[in-house]
Amino acid sequence: MSERRDELAQGLAAVEERISRACTEAGRPREDVHLVVVTKFFPRTDLDLLASLGVTDIGENREQEAAAKLAEGGPPPGVRTHYIGQLQSKKANAVTRWADVVQSVDRPKIVAALARGAGNAGRELTVLIQVDLDPDPAEHRGGAQPADVPALADEVAASDSLRLGGLMAVAPLGGDPDEAFARLAALSEHLREDHPEADWISAGMSGDLEAAVRHGATHLRVGTAILGTRPPQR
Ligand SMILES: *Cc1c(COP(=O)(O)O)cnc(C)c1O
Repeated sequence: MSERRDELAQGLAAVEERISRACTEAGRPREDVHLVVVTKFFPRTDLDLLASLGVTDIGENREQEAAAKLAEGGPPPGVRTHYIGQLQSKKANAVTRWADVVQSVDRPKIVAALARGAGNAGRELTVLIQVDLDPDPAEHRGGAQPADVPALADEVAASDSLRLGGLMAVAPLGGDPDEAFARLAALSEHLREDHPEADWISAGMSGDLEAAVRHGATHLRVGTAILGTRPPQR
C-alpha cells in the first residue's frame, strides 16, 4: 500500500510540474487551474491515498462504479466529486446522490432530471455543459452541439437546484487540441456574455493538458498520468 502511495505521489508531482510549467508559459497564475484526478476503474483505496496526498477533486465516469465507491461512507473528507461520464436520464437521479459537480450535461432531458434529483435531495449541484467539438458527426461521443449551448445554459441557470458552472469538452481524437480548445474558449467567452458567473472551462487530460492551459482551462481532468494505465474494464 505504501508502495502505491509513492507511485501516486510521483504521478501527482510529475503532473503538478507540467501544470506549473504550462501556467508559467501561458502567463497564468497556477491557482487559476484546478486539478480533477480521474479515478475511474481504480479502487476506493486509491481515492483515500489521493486525498491523503492533498487531492481535493476526483472525477468518475460510471454511475454504478462511482456510487459503490462514494455513496456509502461518502467521499474522503474534503474531496469534491465530479461526474464526467455520459448520462441517461434514468441514471441522472442516482448521480445527484453523490456528485457535487456534473460536467457532462448535454441535453434538456438531463437538465430536467438533474434538477429534479438535486431538488429532492436538497442539494445544489454545479453543472457544466459538455460541448461536442468533433466536426465529424460519426464520431459523436456525447456533448451538445455548440449552437445548442445558449438554450441549454438558460435552462440550467433557471433551475433553483442547479448552478451553471461553465463548459466542458474533450478534444476530438486525432485532431489538434489547440484548435479544439481555442473554439471552446470562444464558446466560453460567448456564454459569459449572458452568464458571467459561468466561468469554468473543463478541458485537458493526460495527453493534452498543456494545450488546455494555453486556452484558458480552469479545470483539468487527469487520470492515466497520475494513476497509471487503467485496469481492464469489468
Ligand atoms: C477518462 C477521462 C479523462 C481522463 O483521461 P486520461 O487520459 O486518463 O487523463 C478525462 N475526461 C474524461 C471525460 C474521461 O472520461
